[in-house]
Amino acid sequence: MKSAAVVNYAPEKGSVEIREIESPTIGAEDVLLEVANVGVCGSDLHQWTADHSWPVNYPVVLGHEFGGRIVEVGKDVEHWKEGDRVVSETAAIISRDNPMTRRGLYNLDPTRKGFGYGVNGAMTKYVKVPSRILHHVPDQLPFEQACLTEPCCVAYNAVVKNARIEPGDRVIVLGPGTIGILCAAMARLCGAEVALVGLPQDAHRLEIAKQYGCEVIIGDAKPWAQQRDGLGCDGVIDAAGASITLKIALELVRPAGWISKVGWGPQPLGFNIDPLVQKNITLQGSFSHNWPIWERVIALLSSGQFDVRPIIGGVWPVTEWHEAFEKMHKGEVVKSVLRPV
Ligand SMILES: [Zn+2]
Repeated sequence: MKSAAVVNYAPEKGSVEIREIESPTIGAEDVLLEVANVGVCGSDLHQWTADHSWPVNYPVVLGHEFGGRIVEVGKDVEHWKEGDRVVSETAAIISRDNPMTRRGLYNLDPTRKGFGYGVNGAMTKYVKVPSRILHHVPDQLPFEQACLTEPCCVAYNAVVKNARIEPGDRVIVLGPGTIGILCAAMARLCGAEVALVGLPQDAHRLEIAKQYGCEVIIGDAKPWAQQRDGLGCDGVIDAAGASITLKIALELVRPAGWISKVGWGPQPLGFNIDPLVQKNITLQGSFSHNWPIWERVIALLSSGQFDVRPIIGGVWPVTEWHEAFEKMHKGEVVKSVLRPV
């Protein structure tokens, strides 16, 4: 059976098109998932515009933020059955014996390969998924929301696991993309006062972020950071895609504060990082997520404590991927969601 798929077929800019592909054959430990919805990620856009910095296995079906129903189960799969509503993590291939995998941090296994660049992703009707990365989705959580579990997990890791927030803290988030907005929302959930900082061209996305109860700032965040005692904010979450924002973070954060860096970009640093030493700042990177984070985030989404609806800008059939990508690329919507045809 053939289905339409959004395929990134070459490294050149713009090399994405709809192709008819065969549904995949599953192995003994896999399930075949019928995709209900798939989110468009900034990384999908980067592969389309060819300004990504990771190796891609061309041709590859894009999409790693997805959920759907199990339609086939491999012969060695236990605890899963046809009809189960699930979302999938992104680590499609890992090494079981890698020391990072053995301690549960398979997101940091250097041999890890993800959907949408390493193996075929979910912007199509059927996707092959190893059963070890599946999670149940309760009936009350619609797939249009559940498919965004992945970016919420990125935010959870950056804000909850890789930072330390106490109620009443003042936290600044740099960069109002999907991850920045979700980080701001997660920091609010932790009890912080939050300001989300962007540029004039981010005005629309910042307006959406206000629904999460954070302040929004265009330009200089220093007055907000110093409002209480003049020393700076307690923590900064850097969700911008440029290295230079680290300089801003170092200026905003108070002595003995922290910076959690989740945004990344290929540019080298062009400034002195002595303030990191002088102010005794903890600088922490945050990458991806693992099993316990997914379980927590699904619980938050299902209970309604965490709501992704404000960031969903629309749902398009995969065949209209171009419009969905374009709207996100221009910042007209924060997050586009696709559905297979
Ligand atoms: Zn993503």
